[in-house]
Amino acid sequence: MKIEIDKLISHLKSQGFVFQGSEIYGGLANSWDYGPLGAEVKNKLKKLWWDFFVRRNEYNIGLDSSIILNPKVWEASGHLGNFNDPLIDCKKCKSRFRADKLIEEKFTEMNVGGWTNQEIEEFIREKKVNCPKCEANDFTNIRQFTLMFKTNQGVIEDASSTVYLRPETAQGIFIQYKNSQRALRKKLPFGIGQIGKSFRNEITPGNFIFRTREFEQMELEFFFSPNDSNDWFEYWLEKVKFFLEKIVQINKKNFSIREHDKQELSHYSKRTVDIEFDFPFGRGELWGIAHRSDFDLNQHQKYSGQDLTYLDPETNKKYLANVIEPSVGLERLLLAIFCQSYVEEKIENGERIVMKLPYKLAPYLVAIMPLQKQQNEKANQLYKELLVDFDATFDETGNIGKRYRRQDAIGTPFCITIDFDTLTDNCVTIRNRDTMSQERIEITKIKKYLVEKLI
Ligand code: ATP
Repeated sequence: MKIEIDKLISHLKSQGFVFQGSEIYGGLANSWDYGPLGAEVKNKLKKLWWDFFVRRNEYNIGLDSSIILNPKVWEASGHLGNFNDPLIDCKKCKSRFRADKLIEEKFTEMNVGGWTNQEIEEFIREKKVNCPKCEANDFTNIRQFTLMFKTNQGVIEDASSTVYLRPETAQGIFIQYKNSQRALRKKLPFGIGQIGKSFRNEITPGNFIFRTREFEQMELEFFFSPNDSNDWFEYWLEKVKFFLEKIVQINKKNFSIREHDKQELSHYSKRTVDIEFDFPFGRGELWGIAHRSDFDLNQHQKYSGQDLTYLDPETNKKYLANVIEPSVGLERLLLAIFCQSYVEEKIENGERIVMKLPYKLAPYLVAIMPLQKQQNEKANQLYKELLVDFDATFDETGNIGKRYRRQDAIGTPFCITIDFDTLTDNCVTIRNRDTMSQERIEITKIKKYLVEKLI
């Protein structure tokens, strides 16, 4: 089903998932806050990623590095010199755009990665890629605009105190690679995963939480010997696909794999693949998987003067590890999950909006509902018992139909009603969010029932 993004945004706001940032002050362009339920889903998504890519992977370990790093890190990584986007202005209405995106948004099948600025400018002119605001085709030349957020550390505001907010979490991993490897006595191959905030002063943020200036990344840097004959790229590509399909249940038909061609590849990359998702506003990158060779370790070795080589215990030879990097934006993945989960359905007595979130991501797994006031005590007792092991909520207001709609709207997979008979037969009715079917089970069997549903 094709959904309208505005409807989704308004639903997520009204249900407490995502609010406009700084709203009472008129907002701050393209900033979003995660409400009580959005924070739950976000945390659960992070936990699923961490469990799959860090905790329960035989090779990997985790890390939590700083947002502000020594500025030399960004010299070494190339961000200070090259982390720019091509900025172009419409001469007529003065609107600003990212020149590459102007083309890619008009010609959705095209990718201009690797083009020179001159090639982009010519294409815009010749193919009449007009200003989306005023339709003119009269643009300035492209200027490079740095995406790095700059600030100062300490009391003196001069060049010597300039620091940057990290534009990616990956570099924090590279600079702690040696410490992590030594401390944990890791042998190649092994990976280091990290989840954390990144900042990019994007020229044209937008499309809700797809592109923002402050966002979270979930990145893995997987280190292996250059002589290793395993195809680790394929291994991680398969893992990412498995995570998308089986763990967060993204429908296969909603995402596609795009190989970067030679022109688009960075000079150091042997292979890069983007997993793209069909968002309501078009196809967009969701997850990037890149073979980064030994580029980053080599750069940090050069700039820091530290030996970052690995001494192979079998061959007694030293070398720099190669790296595969699967990198995903937490909020982009969340948006893909929200888009896929939001469903408007006609039902017997009207319509309902259901968030068909994977059970493991729903803010609440189960809602406890006493049918009448007389069953409140029993229901409360059950609620407290379930709360020890499950994400449960209690809902006693409104008629039962309204309560079901309310739980559907926030994606609660199971609703348990306590009725008059429960007080004597110790059974409850469990209603399934997706099928709306109901079954009656004994109270003592609820925990087992829910555990089985979560597997
Ligand atoms: P794009 O081409 O969309 O700007 P990118 O290729 O620069 O993305 P990477 O540097 O590969 O992105 O970052 C890895 C992941 O981080 C992306 O696949 C995306 O999921 C996420 N990401 C990057 N920039 C943003 C942003 N401004 N807002 C939200 N998520 C982002």
